Amino acid sequence: MRLYLLRLGTVRPRGPLAEVPVPGYLIRHPGGTNILVDTGAARNMVGDESAAFAVGEDEHVSAQLGRLGLNAEDIDIVVCTHLHPDHSGSNDLFPQARFVVQRRELEEARASTEMKYTWMREHWDAPGLTYDQVDGDVELLPGVELIDSHGHSAGHQSVLVRLANSGPLLITGDAVPSADHTDPESRPVSDVFDHDGEAVRASTRKLMNLAARENALVVHSHDQQQWGTLRIAPEFYD
Ligand SMILES: [Zn+2]
Repeated sequence: MRLYLLRLGTVRPRGPLAEVPVPGYLIRHPGGTNILVDTGAARNMVGDESAAFAVGEDEHVSAQLGRLGLNAEDIDIVVCTHLHPDHSGSNDLFPQARFVVQRRELEEARASTEMKYTWMREHWDAPGLTYDQVDGDVELLPGVELIDSHGHSAGHQSVLVRLANSGPLLITGDAVPSADHTDPESRPVSDVFDHDGEAVRASTRKLMNLAARENALVVHSHDQQQWGTLRIAPEFYD
């Protein structure tokens, strides 16, 4: 099994927000199943200087997959950590894939009138996309586990990948977005971006305990510094 970390762009610094990666992840599962975790920003943001996310032509998810010899049609499963705009903006490019999302996330996203869900809704709720809704911790395929880590959003999920050589790797997603967010008690919680502060702390505790138990490499979603130290596609973990 191979895991590629895809840099799908950069969140433009704004107010308290620092310049951080827009992340995606590709798992090439033995037996031929290709799993994409999150799809990044929308195609129409490529080259748009005024967009919230800076996405270079070669950074968009299509280009990143292309660099690895894959087309959109080669993706069998798209796992959505959650449906915020920097994670679901190109979902509509994978109409043939099976999307896997926590039930609570999809329900909240469809009911919400908040910008964080409405902004990209045409992309993540495009006609013809098939959402397979799951509840709680689920084994997706052997060696790939979905971990309920709600709090940042109503149904956020993280992904534990068990690799033969690199060992376990925990894709925290936005549940623990950077190394500054690993302490459940003292980590910052945002009134604007986080859905439920208590749940954020509980999920942080759950993920950090899991990582310690499994001796897993913790990969944060929006940690510019950490991404400078990780293997980024076309390099991979296996
Ligand atoms: Zn995010």
